[in-house]
Amino acid sequence: MLPLYMAYPHPACQEQIPGKLIPLHIPVFEGGQLVGCSCGNHCPQKSWGKHPRIADWQRKASVRPNQIAAWTGMYQPLNWGVNPSDRCHILDVDDPSAAQALDLPPTFTVTTGRGRHFYFEVPRGALKGSPRLCPGIDTRGPNGYVLAAGSLHQSGRRYEIECDLPLAPMPSQILEQLMRRDCEPMTQEGREEERVAAPPLDRAHSETRRLILEGGPDRSSALASVYCSLIRAGYSDAEIAAICWDEAHKISEKPRERGWKWLCKDIATVKSRMNSRFTMSDLLRAA
Ligand SMILES: [Zn+2]
Repeated sequence: MLPLYMAYPHPACQEQIPGKLIPLHIPVFEGGQLVGCSCGNHCPQKSWGKHPRIADWQRKASVRPNQIAAWTGMYQPLNWGVNPSDRCHILDVDDPSAAQALDLPPTFTVTTGRGRHFYFEVPRGALKGSPRLCPGIDTRGPNGYVLAAGSLHQSGRRYEIECDLPLAPMPSQILEQLMRRDCEPMTQEGREEERVAAPPLDRAHSETRRLILEGGPDRSSALASVYCSLIRAGYSDAEIAAICWDEAHKISEKPRERGWKWLCKDIATVKSRMNSRFTMSDLLRAA
């Protein structure tokens, strides 16, 4: 039997490709107990089994069978994310009563760990972001992703296709509401959520991204620049360590050679130097 994720894009509606696929980490269980994430637990528990295995997923998400097969061979076991196309928008419903009140038409539906994902067709480019519809109903558009059917949830359940229909057009009143919210500036609460939901590299400074993707002439100074950029971008020490350690990000071989303890100490050293420099210039200015 084909894995469930091979059902994407929906075979009955080639015209309505829901999106591209991204290989994700997967929650790890031991003796039936959830113990962590396949990244080695360097991510917050909220992200266990949900964050990308590849850097720059926005550019690399793919539907090409060769690429999907390559990722499948490279990372086992793994979860999959669906990055909706600009003609697809997904309602992520945690609260069943909220969905009932909306009286949604039958459409391609996936059961999640706690609720359901309803996939809808929208006019191309109608929604750019992932605005929240109401409490209990978040959405995901072309700038985000959801876990694909077949993926394993922290609860131990798998995301499963519940309704295998072609995508229905999104009801107009919901689309209008989302289009209005899509244009509103994000609230502080929304920004916080986005911060938590976004994989670390999304928030990275452009210089950091360049260093990660292209490297530098000297790996020690390149690594230190990465720390500085990530510290300035507001990452915690644990997040920075996870990014620098993760093989997918390919920053430098150095952390792996020297070990996890060395890496954490190195980050702390750079941070304290940055802090002391900041304090010193402050003092000079005050004087
Ligand atoms: Zn992880």
